[in-house]
Amino acid sequence: MPLQPAFRSDGLFASARSTAGLILPHAAAIAGRLADLIYPPVCAGCGIRNGSHRALCPSCWATMRFVERPYCEVLGLPFSHDPGPGFLSAQAIADPPVFDRLRSVALYEGVARQLVQSLKYRDRTELAAMMALWMVRVGGGHVAACDGILPVPLHPARFLKRRFNQSAELSRQMAELAGRPHLPGALVRRKRTAQQVGLSARARLENVRAAFNIAEGHEDEVFGKRLVLVDDVFTTGATVSSATRALKRAGAADVTVLTFAMAVSTTI
Ligand SMILES: [Zn+2]
Repeated sequence: MPLQPAFRSDGLFASARSTAGLILPHAAAIAGRLADLIYPPVCAGCGIRNGSHRALCPSCWATMRFVERPYCEVLGLPFSHDPGPGFLSAQAIADPPVFDRLRSVALYEGVARQLVQSLKYRDRTELAAMMALWMVRVGGGHVAACDGILPVPLHPARFLKRRFNQSAELSRQMAELAGRPHLPGALVRRKRTAQQVGLSARARLENVRAAFNIAEGHEDEVFGKRLVLVDDVFTTGATVSSATRALKRAGAADVTVLTFAMAVSTTI
C-alpha cells in the first residue's frame, strides 16, 4: 500500500536514495533490498510493516501530539487558545528560564514516549535519524542560524556502562541534517548524578546543580556563540538549565534548548 505523503517522514531518506540512484542505480537498488532484508521497513512506533524505515503507520501517527503554534515563544508550551503572536506564558514571565527558548517536537505521550524509550534503552540508533529530522524542522531558524549543536552529555562512567548517549545521537544527526558544526566535546558532566527518574522537581534540581563544565580547550566553541542544546525529553528542565548555566558562564550568546519530547500535564 503506498503511503500518503502526510505519513511519510522519510523525505530525506528518499532523496538520499534517489541521489544514489543517479550514480549507481543497480548497486543502490541491491543495497536497498539487502537493507530491507536485514532491517525490514516497519513503522518506527509499532513495528507493523509499512514499506518505510523512517515513517509511522497511520495509527501511530494519530497518537503523536505535535507541539504546534500557538505556543509560548520562550517555553515552547502549547497554549489552549491563541493569545496572539509573540505572547509569553505567565510562567515564562514570572520565572524566566536560563535558556533563551525551548522547542520540542511532541508531547511526551503515546508513540512519542515510545520512540524516546526505544532510543534510550534499546539502542535503536536508526530511530535517531527520523527524530532528528523532526527536531531540525521544529528548531527552524534557530537551528539554521546557530554556530553549533551540542548534546547534554552523560557522565563518563555512565557512558562507559551504556556505551550510548541518546542525546548525542540526536545532536549528531541534527548537525549533519542542518549542516551546522557538531560540538559533542564542549560540555562535560563533572558530577555523577543519580538517575533523574522518580525524583521530585526539587530533588532533580539538587541532583544536577553545577553538574556541567566546559571541557578544557573547548572554550572557543562556546564563547559568543549561538548554540542549540539537545536532549531527548524535557521534564522539569533541571538538567538543561544546569547545562545552559555552564554555557552562559562560559560566554554563550544564545542557547536554544531542543528536545524531541516535552512532558507537560496539560496545555496552558
Ligand atoms: Zn505504527
